[in-house]
This record gives sequence, C-alpha cells and structure tokens, in this order.
Amino acid sequence: MSQQITLDIIGYVSSPYKEKFAIPRQPGIVSAAKGHIELTGQANNLELVRGLEQFSHLWLMFIFHGTAAQGWKPLVRPPRLGGNKKLGVLATRSTFRPNPVGMSVVKLDDIRLENKSVKLDISGLDLLDQTPIIDIKPYIPYSDALYDASAGFAQDCPADSLSISFSSQAKRDLLKFHGSYPELEQLISQVLAQDPRPAYKSGQADDKCYGMHLHQFNILWQMTALTGAQVLSIEKIA
Ligand code: SAM
Repeated sequence: MSQQITLDIIGYVSSPYKEKFAIPRQPGIVSAAKGHIELTGQANNLELVRGLEQFSHLWLMFIFHGTAAQGWKPLVRPPRLGGNKKLGVLATRSTFRPNPVGMSVVKLDDIRLENKSVKLDISGLDLLDQTPIIDIKPYIPYSDALYDASAGFAQDCPADSLSISFSSQAKRDLLKFHGSYPELEQLISQVLAQDPRPAYKSGQADDKCYGMHLHQFNILWQMTALTGAQVLSIEKIA
C-alpha cells in the first residue's frame, strides 16, 4: 500500500485471556470476562476520560498484536462457516486484515486512578492480554445499535453449544481459589459453553484432553459427549 500513518498506543489491556485459544469470537458473549485498560504515555491523564463515566459501554479500537506479524490475504475462512468457505477479508471480522485493527464494544465497570495510572475496568471483552489500544470512544445506542441491520452469516449470536460440568477435583480446585477469583467458575463455564474448539470438531467424537490458560490458571478439560464438556482440574501456573 502506498501511504502510511503512525498511530500512538494509548493503553494496554489486562485480560484473563493469556492465549488466543478459547477467546470468544466477539465481545459480550462471556460477561464474566473482566479486565482493565491501563492508559499510558500522554494518554495517562484523567482529563482524557472526564465524562466517560456517564457511558455504560465503550468502543475499543485496538491492534491484533498477537497475529499482526502473520500478514493477511484477500480471502479468509470464517470459523463461523466451519472453516471451509472463503470470503473476502473485509466481509469478516478476521484478525488477518490489511491493517490489523480490531474493534470491540465492552462494558465499562469503573474508572480509577491506581499507582498514578488511569485504569478503566471493563467486562465482556474478547481481547488477548496486553492488546494495544489505539482509541476509546463511548458507545452511543441511538446511532450504534441498528435493530433492522442484516448481517448475513453472522446474523445471530451463536447459542451456547456445550453443557459444562466440573469433576470433584475441579470443584476442590475452585474452592481453593475462590477467595482471590470468586468468579472463576462462571468464567470457565461461559468460555467453555461456546465450544472453543476448532469449528470442524463440533459434533464429532473427541477424547482429547484440552488445556486453556485463563488468568494464572491452566484449566484441563475434556469432552464427555458430543455436547458436553467436563473441567478436570485447575492448576495455578507458577
Ligand atoms: N471484536 C473484534 C472485531 O470485530 O474486530 C475482534 C473479533 S476477532 C474475530 C476475535 C478474536 O480475535 C478472538 O477470538 C481472539 O482469538 C482474537 N484476538 C483477540 N485479541 C487479539 C490480539 N490482540 N491479537 C490477535 N488476536 C486477538
């Protein structure tokens, strides 16, 4: 491409999602996913967010830093279509775009100053830990929520596809960590309910033991039936 501009990163996301696997495909699907944005550099100034507390939700503009180095192609295979149909990249929310810029609506829970850093507490995020933020805007329902909009293959929020249970070991683990992570059970349940496996696995017999990294935990889980998954154990990563 012929022209370039330089943008400043205005903050970084602190997210429970420490790896790409199991991050929901859009925000709002896992309401128990809570994190914060820490404003940095010249943006670390309470004046920038004066009045923002009046809004319940925010638009975040961010960089897909975890995949940006992999480049992009004009055609991609949306996971939503089972990964076997190609669409133009600009017809999708793929992370592999000409500019690796993403946009997500998240809930704004609080704005606070901690150790001289402005922090915005957010929930319902779909962002990898340490995602760089390039802009934040208030969500304005009268203009941003279009109830008569058509959305092709992405018209409806995918229904939860797995029912989740916890083994007795996992229940003991939850109790152990309840003091510092009271919402861990809800977070794990919501993340797994959307079936984080690659799309081609759904509806297939699967005896693989999966791991996923949420907060500081390695969570082991396994399918128990075509539409059921069980959490086997929750280990703190040293
Ligand atoms: N809501 C955003 C959008 O529409 O631009 C993101 C949609 S994208 C399909 C969501 C996926 O991006 C997540 O499932 C996760 O795998 C991936 N993701 C989130 N943060 C990322 C990051 N910083 N770098 C690379 N991939 C990321």
